[in-house]
Amino acid sequence: MAGALSRLRFPVAQSRGRRYWEPPHPYRNDFQRDRDRLVHARAFRRLENKTQVFTPGLSDHFRNRLTHTIEVTQIARTVAAVLGLDEDLTEALALGHDIGHPPFAHAGEAELNRLMRRYGERFDHNLHALRIVESFEQRYARFAGLNLTFEVREGIVKHSRELEPGEEPALEEYLPGLRPPLEAQLIDLADEVAYNTADLDDAHSAGLISLEEISASVPAFAALRARVEAQFPMAVERIQFLEVLRLLIDLLVTGLIEGTREAAEAAGVRDVEDVRRHAARLARLSEEADETRRQIKVFLHRAVYNSEVLASERRRASAMIAELFEYYCARPEAMPPPYADQVRRAPVHQIVCDYIAGMTDGFFERTYRQVFGPAAPPG
Ligand code: MG
Repeated sequence: MAGALSRLRFPVAQSRGRRYWEPPHPYRNDFQRDRDRLVHARAFRRLENKTQVFTPGLSDHFRNRLTHTIEVTQIARTVAAVLGLDEDLTEALALGHDIGHPPFAHAGEAELNRLMRRYGERFDHNLHALRIVESFEQRYARFAGLNLTFEVREGIVKHSRELEPGEEPALEEYLPGLRPPLEAQLIDLADEVAYNTADLDDAHSAGLISLEEISASVPAFAALRARVEAQFPMAVERIQFLEVLRLLIDLLVTGLIEGTREAAEAAGVRDVEDVRRHAARLARLSEEADETRRQIKVFLHRAVYNSEVLASERRRASAMIAELFEYYCARPEAMPPPYADQVRRAPVHQIVCDYIAGMTDGFFERTYRQVFGPAAPPG
């Protein structure tokens, strides 16, 4: 199996390159440099203070968006290495995959999107990520942004969706109608494997779900649990849970490796150009692993994401975002200088959206208290 898809590896020497020419580095190739640029970006460091699913406060052990990103990167690199794909491109894309996420996890994204729709626009964290790496990061004397290679920017644009021809004039350069290379296709699925299993873990450690409940909804989990119980009958429940979870991650990652290899074989693709022109994405989970993935997702929605404790957090976050958004739309001069200054060049709602989307949870909370007072009730 090792290296089975090395013919489909994206060759770094064939990169379409950077927007601004830069001299080559003596020992890091372009994708390695992109990885390093993302790790050194301010937006990357802010991931540490952005909620993944569970807000900190209840425990220091929950994932935040940074530790989630590291887990996605680890899974994606393993898959890329086994299949013979480019590990550096995969790593750069995985490290950047959530860089455009607003504060307060999914609630933040949904609320910003709702507010932008009033203006006939939308908020999309992938497009926001592109704007971060193209212009908001300011660390080079010769250009704005990180000047990443085309393939990393394309991977950001096509992270979780296809780009259709004519869909978005500003994105015409990113090969609409064509699939991204396999390295980019892997990220969305590695993301899902990472968060499905991590959310089970965090929800179990928060006391929201039990092994019985997961077993009743996810047959593969029940089968792995029987194996673990037979092998470690004396282990305490939490250790049994973690042993099952290890096997579950392994099952899903193996499913991703095999599903992708099988899909590529069946499609008869011979090189990266064939992958690009193929009608559908070829990165996928095997049928069996995909069924387990789907069952975990359904279970998490019912037992975790729709639980009252998370739903009330979401309502609180949405209400606060809407209030601060409206406050700044009415008083753009109250934003700090780089944002307040842009109001003459772009619509106010866009600037306000960019400002709020870039905030960490902590910075948002502090700003909200400064604006509305320390005791202001949200909503
Ligand atoms: Mg993610």
